[in-house]
Amino acid sequence: MITFKSSREIDQMREAGQLVAEAHQIVSGMISPGVTTSEIDVAVERFFEEQGATPLFKGVPGVVPFPAVTCISIDDEVVHGIPGDRELKEGEIVSVDTGCRLNGWCGDGAWTYAVGQVDELRSEILAVGALTLEIAIREMGRRERWSQVAQAMEEYVKSAGFRVVEELVGHGIGREMHEDPQVPNYVSRDLRKHDFALEPGLVIAVEPMVNAGTRSVRLLDDHWTVVTRDGRPSVHFEHTIAMTDDGPELLTKGIGAGRNS
Ligand code: MG
Repeated sequence: MITFKSSREIDQMREAGQLVAEAHQIVSGMISPGVTTSEIDVAVERFFEEQGATPLFKGVPGVVPFPAVTCISIDDEVVHGIPGDRELKEGEIVSVDTGCRLNGWCGDGAWTYAVGQVDELRSEILAVGALTLEIAIREMGRRERWSQVAQAMEEYVKSAGFRVVEELVGHGIGREMHEDPQVPNYVSRDLRKHDFALEPGLVIAVEPMVNAGTRSVRLLDDHWTVVTRDGRPSVHFEHTIAMTDDGPELLTKGIGAGRNS
């Protein structure tokens, strides 16, 4: 069941979303060759602690509980990469996803960053992934139902020669990080059955994952990291978005160094 939020609740969610955006500004400033993914994770953890916010990812149940406050996924890693000793290298693309709860309300956002100069394929998939999220936001302002937005996202990604990941989807968000509805980035029979209206008070995390090659993914032995089956790169972009009387509002506005702002 979808829980709709009042404008006062959306005001509170904006505060959580803004902390996520600020965390990303810290991350964005750290992305460079030689930095380890755990250094980035520690910086975000400290920031949330200073702000009195609770990280949402640490301890998420699984075969092993998720051990960090960020998911950091490099190149062929799609999502849910575990921070550790791995150093970022020039030419890689690195997606960082994080979320927090502040005063009982959640925010969630991800962005894929270039480490120094990247090749043509990586530069193109970065642009396509970011634009897929921009298209979703634009379409949310002029469509009635989510399936119409998902269709626009999927068609754009295909036209660019890439593929949308189907195993993982976005989600409603509020007092909990994962609420109804599920928010797929593609159209299926299942979505037609569980389609939902884009009404004021709806708050969703929209998070397209775009693969350069096959859309198919697999899980690594660490029980968390999702990688592309063909080893080609993948990107992930996510905003927490509220539908208001004036259209979609990015509660995590500011992620991605000024993009979508
Ligand atoms: Mg999410």
